Amino acid sequence: MKRKMEPVDVVIVGLGAGGGPAAMVLSQAGYKVVGFDKGPWLRPAEHYSGDELKYQNRSYLWPDVDLMPRTVRSDDQSVAEIFNFSPVPSNVGGGTSHMAGWTPRPRESDFIFHSLHGDLAGANLADWPIRYEHLEPYLTKVEWTYGISGLAGADKGAAFRSKDYPSEPLPPTRFGKKFYEGASALGINAFPLPMSHLTEGNALGRPAVNRSSFWNQYGDPTETRSSVTTTFIPLALATGNFEVRADSFVRHVKVDRQGRATGVVYVDNDGVEIEQDARVVILALGAIESARLMLLSKSARFPDGLANDSGVVGKNATFHEYLFAVGLFDNERDEPLNGWTGNYQSGGSMHFYETDESRGHIGGGIIATTQTGQPINMILPGRPTWGQAMKDADRSYFSHAMKIGFILQDMPQETNRVDLDPTVKDAWGLPVARITNRPHANDLAMSRWQIDKNMEILQAAGATRTIPVYLERFTGNACHQQGTVRMGIDPEKSVLNEWGQAHGVDNLFVLDGAGFPTALGVNPTLTIMANSWRCSDYIAQTHLRGRADRLELPNTGEVRRQEPK
Ligand SMILES: Cc1cc2nc3c(=O)[nH]c(=O)nc-3n(C[C@H](O)[C@H](O)[C@H](O)COP(=O)(O)OP(=O)(O)OC[C@H]3O[C@@H](n4cnc5c(N)ncnc54)[C@H](O)[C@@H]3O)c2cc1C
Repeated sequence: MKRKMEPVDVVIVGLGAGGGPAAMVLSQAGYKVVGFDKGPWLRPAEHYSGDELKYQNRSYLWPDVDLMPRTVRSDDQSVAEIFNFSPVPSNVGGGTSHMAGWTPRPRESDFIFHSLHGDLAGANLADWPIRYEHLEPYLTKVEWTYGISGLAGADKGAAFRSKDYPSEPLPPTRFGKKFYEGASALGINAFPLPMSHLTEGNALGRPAVNRSSFWNQYGDPTETRSSVTTTFIPLALATGNFEVRADSFVRHVKVDRQGRATGVVYVDNDGVEIEQDARVVILALGAIESARLMLLSKSARFPDGLANDSGVVGKNATFHEYLFAVGLFDNERDEPLNGWTGNYQSGGSMHFYETDESRGHIGGGIIATTQTGQPINMILPGRPTWGQAMKDADRSYFSHAMKIGFILQDMPQETNRVDLDPTVKDAWGLPVARITNRPHANDLAMSRWQIDKNMEILQAAGATRTIPVYLERFTGNACHQQGTVRMGIDPEKSVLNEWGQAHGVDNLFVLDGAGFPTALGVNPTLTIMANSWRCSDYIAQTHLRGRADRLELPNTGEVRRQEPK
């Protein structure tokens, strides 16, 4: 027989970027909250370090592909193969425990993509049911609670902001300075991108970030980088209303006969199956696993998966893809760039963010110059892997290479989706997530145009050779999961309403990137946190007080058609 715990007000499944703010807001509002994570709660001083082999080659923080595989195929006719697609850490803190930390704001155009562009053949464009204006107060709250550095006003096309950043950015690295040189020569508006850390003299009075070479994919042993485990979770625990249950794999969301969520079933570290009832269930497992858990949670009321009357759960998945161009400089002539060290991301631009149809595609994304990596995994496409040729390449370029990356804003397509693999199962005996993904023609055109532009910037900065990495297929390397449980006004075309609340299951909320109807052109984590905070405020104000009425969104007027910037 299953064990049963005392009921609580709220359960949150997944304690990453989406789950963290919800835990804080709801426990601070006085509700009893339990947060589950299938992974452990690591101790930074003991578990984190700058060990390149451990983090980059043995993927210490990534999900173990033997225990939690995923399968991938490019279309319905292909056989899906096991592949560690979009591997975000499985531990308390989720992706925030090792992410590089780009935390730019979205722009107004991100929320009205369909109004701006209409229908795009083969894609499933939609407007968000909220506007930038609805999110803005929460973007500010996150910047001032999580701790984000930036330079207000530096991005010439930025949407309005109600408050400055709490911290100035770090100074640029050597490769950052080169990036600014190249951008300035071409008249490109470049600036220090917002990052999830604080610097000396910040307004929050927190310690400045420890400057280290080890950011992207490394945990931070000093805990000076902003993450969910250094901010939202301690704040939630301080209320006395919040409990973390780590090493607890949630396998099912329970519903009653009417289809209201009643709680979850999870398996603890000893393999014991336990029930936890709650008045409200929040899913924040990351967009792939949230969709999978909903599809796994079948019942008499929901035979096709929880809240899936529309059949939309899992569809319209977007993942971004991280693409880049590498520039090689002359080691006899140029100063070293030291691309293996300094703040991982050191200057970027949103100059090409808004649509300019003369480029041959719609939309656009953020670019930034980032590290070229430590010695074992130096990023140099075509680098010889053996013998004298490898030594020569490393001598010439280890300190004389830089790269400019690009976050591809991929178009949502109904056929790009997450469903349950019919044959492959995880360590708990459950069907794994199968990802079907093929780039849209707009994705291919956008990536080619932008990577060519990045090469131009590198050349303007003095690179003697440039190497492009264009989009060929999606590998999930950006780990930006969005769209699988989209928000929308129409219950036949979406799964969630404007509050992240499931149509037809009023006490079920999905508060990670799954709700995003279109992919942002920026990294999504700041927006995930802000949207989770916004929806959690709604839950605290209405639902948990026993009010059935749905709050109206503040009126922000007509959708404005933006001229490309
Ligand atoms: C190397 C790397 C660098 C990145 N850099 C950036 C960056 O610079 N900027 C940016 O915006 N984004 C970045 N990202 C992406 C960022 O990590 C994600 O956008 C973010 O973490 C998503 O938040 P989430 O809450 O949706 O999911 P997550 O943070 O992944 O949290 C989900 C949590 O749910 C738990 N979980 C899953 N299934 C279950 C289950 N069945 N039961 C219980 N718990 C479960 C997981 O263990 C995990 O802890 C990066 C990702 C990677 C991998």
